[in-house]
Amino acid sequence: MSSNQKIYEGKAKILYTTDNPEILLTYFKDDATAFNAQKKGIITGKGKINCTISSHIFKLLEANDISTHFIDCPASDKMRVRRVKILPIEVIVRNIAAGSLCRQTLLKEGTILKFPLVEYCYKNDSLQDPLLTSDRLLLLELATREQLEQIQTLALKINDILRNLFNQCQITLVDFKIEFGLDNHENLILADEISPDSCRLWDQSQTDPNQRVMDKDRFRKDLGKVETAYQQVLERILADQG
Ligand code: UDP
Repeated sequence: MSSNQKIYEGKAKILYTTDNPEILLTYFKDDATAFNAQKKGIITGKGKINCTISSHIFKLLEANDISTHFIDCPASDKMRVRRVKILPIEVIVRNIAAGSLCRQTLLKEGTILKFPLVEYCYKNDSLQDPLLTSDRLLLLELATREQLEQIQTLALKINDILRNLFNQCQITLVDFKIEFGLDNHENLILADEISPDSCRLWDQSQTDPNQRVMDKDRFRKDLGKVETAYQQVLERILADQG
């Protein structure tokens, strides 16, 4: 396969081929979307920030024996990744009630959950990513029972590691979304990205429900200072590392 061919363009990233068929190059865009792409905008510098945060997190997870698609970053907004077949499932882990959990239940935003909640959504824009039950997921053959069990175990382990990381940065990990892929040997591999686009992150030094937001909710809810918040997450992670 020839290199530098665009094979996929998503809302926040573009995937290119490389001279190695097993490796893809991901370019992180500054484009931001919300509400199933009904709201569109640009967050200046987001591509570089999210690529750098994601790389840091993938490296940390690898150090904790979690297989990820991350290889390296040839530039601050470009990540080389192992080619995997992405499962059409959004895996969401929640520690504190927010977003759709509050809209779909009577839980109030900010309620600390008694245990981390692992949820699955069908990655399908035309259906607006509906919540799946485990049985629906198996019925649709989106994953096997073994893969589903492995996904749940990995999701909880990733949650423990990320909670700890963000806590050290005085940031509360409210919830996050991850995606998994399968390699040629059908091994489950963490893919996509983990960044303020895909996590809810609250600044522990702020009590105001708007001021504490350090993630894409600033864009979704027009809270302003989106770039500053993303930059702040990166700076705190790098300071913690240093
Ligand atoms: N999320 C995401 N992509 C999606 C849907 C959700 O990255 O397509 C993230 C979102 O940023 C949040 C978590 O998953 O950190 C839970 O999102 P929720 O189900 O509450 O959806 P929302 O309120 O954003 O519609």
